[in-house]
Amino acid sequence: MDQEIQKPVRVKKEKPQLRQSIYSLLPEEMQTWLKDNGEKPFRAGQIFDWLYIKRVTTFDEMSNLSKELRDKLAADFELSTLSTLIKQESKDGTIKFLFQLQDGYSIETVLMRHEYGNSVCVTTQVGCRIGCSFCASTLGGLKRHLLAGEIVEQVVNVQKALDEVGERVSHVVIMGIGEPFDNYDAMMSFLKVINHEKGLNIGARHITVSTSGIIPSIYKFADEQLQINFALSLHAPNQELRLRLMPIAKAYKLPDLIEAIRYYTEKTGRRVSFEYGLFGGVNDQVEHAEELARLIKGIKCHVNLIPVNYVPERDYVRTPKNDIFSFEKTLKNHGINVTIRREHGSDIDAACGQLRAKERKQETTN
Ligand code: SAH
Repeated sequence: MDQEIQKPVRVKKEKPQLRQSIYSLLPEEMQTWLKDNGEKPFRAGQIFDWLYIKRVTTFDEMSNLSKELRDKLAADFELSTLSTLIKQESKDGTIKFLFQLQDGYSIETVLMRHEYGNSVCVTTQVGCRIGCSFCASTLGGLKRHLLAGEIVEQVVNVQKALDEVGERVSHVVIMGIGEPFDNYDAMMSFLKVINHEKGLNIGARHITVSTSGIIPSIYKFADEQLQINFALSLHAPNQELRLRLMPIAKAYKLPDLIEAIRYYTEKTGRRVSFEYGLFGGVNDQVEHAEELARLIKGIKCHVNLIPVNYVPERDYVRTPKNDIFSFEKTLKNHGINVTIRREHGSDIDAACGQLRAKERKQETTN
């Protein structure tokens, strides 16, 4: 008898298919979907009303749509691709959320309470591949980009939590885990949806995006001519020091980066924010402040000094208070606008990927 010898089939590990979040769509895109599905385009307005004004949690609550349309929506879209794993409130009102994605990864989102309003800090990637030497978000590398809807849902979920106390999300900062300019298209769709009057209607001037300095995307972003606030994580006054802190400086050199920033401010007429982390004994001396003032001279800008957040895996130390003030004063003497970032939620690890890092550690030790 012939015996067929079966070679073992090597099964490729399938990546789970991600279902499309309905929050990825702009009203125009929803209209197209409706037309393609034999429905009237004006329904898009009703659907957006349910999503962003009434903020429903099931398609069946969309009571002015036919059952057939609700079923079609449910077949093509998810209404909620994030589930809340942790919601933790700090003494200062900061609330930190750890959300689980469809494929099991977790991301963090932080709500900060300011006098001027409620600001949500969103994540754009699971992990990060930029590799900044001081940052917790990059420790496990990049797992995947977030989809636009997954970024929008972070804000919607925080808004739902605020609905319980009758408050509104007024500001959004794209400063959570990940490099937004490394996930450019999803970030742009996200911006359009939250800014849209039929979406969350958050004013462009109330939205801030921050990048580690991907030069081609800075030019692209400048050409979009948006009124969105733009921040650059600068962290060093010269190429050599920046390269020590941020490996991205190898591909995108500081003089070219400054040129791109000048282009941005000239093209948009808007000022840029420079984020400058103060890392004890590394970049925090008066001579660094002098060098920084020379570097950014003539650029319409604002400098935000960030005393380093302690990350257990990184051995950076805090700059003593007096040195922080000397640094600030030096910049002020050069006529530069400067503020020192206030810390939010330090009692709940709200800073820079710390919560997710802790969760990942638990995952690997359990
Ligand atoms: N990838 C983007 C968005 C992150 S924003 C960017 O790099 O701009 C988060 C800000 O916090 C960035 O300016 C980042 O450089 C800074 N940051 C990260 N880890 C930090 C730490 N341990 N202490 C102080 N600032 C840190």
